[in-house]
Amino acid sequence: MSLLKRLGLNKYDVGSPHIQVNTEICRTCRDKPCVSVCPAGTYDPQPDGTIVAHYERCLECGAALVACPYGAITFKWPEQGVSYRYG
Ligand code: SF4
Repeated sequence: MSLLKRLGLNKYDVGSPHIQVNTEICRTCRDKPCVSVCPAGTYDPQPDGTIVAHYERCLECGAALVACPYGAITFKWPEQGVSYRYG
C-alpha cells in the first residue's frame, strides 16, 4: 500500500455515537484519567463532574478504555457510531 494511502483518513459513518460513557460513574471519578490520556480531546469534563464524549474526534486508540478505572466507557464500534481510521 502506498504511503499516501496509508496516511489518508477514511471516515465510516455507521450510525449513532459509538462511544457511550456512564456519566453517573464519572461524577465520582476525581482524577478523570480518560481526559489526560486521550490524544484527541474526546473526553470533555463538565463542571458538574460528568463527561461529554466528542466521539467524532475519537481515533480509536483505546487509551481511555484502558485508563478508566471504573469501566464507564463502552465502545460499540463497528455496529454503531462514526469511525475514523488511518490507512
Ligand atoms: S476515567 Fe472513566 S469514570 Fe473517570 S471520568 Fe473518565 S470515563 Fe468517567
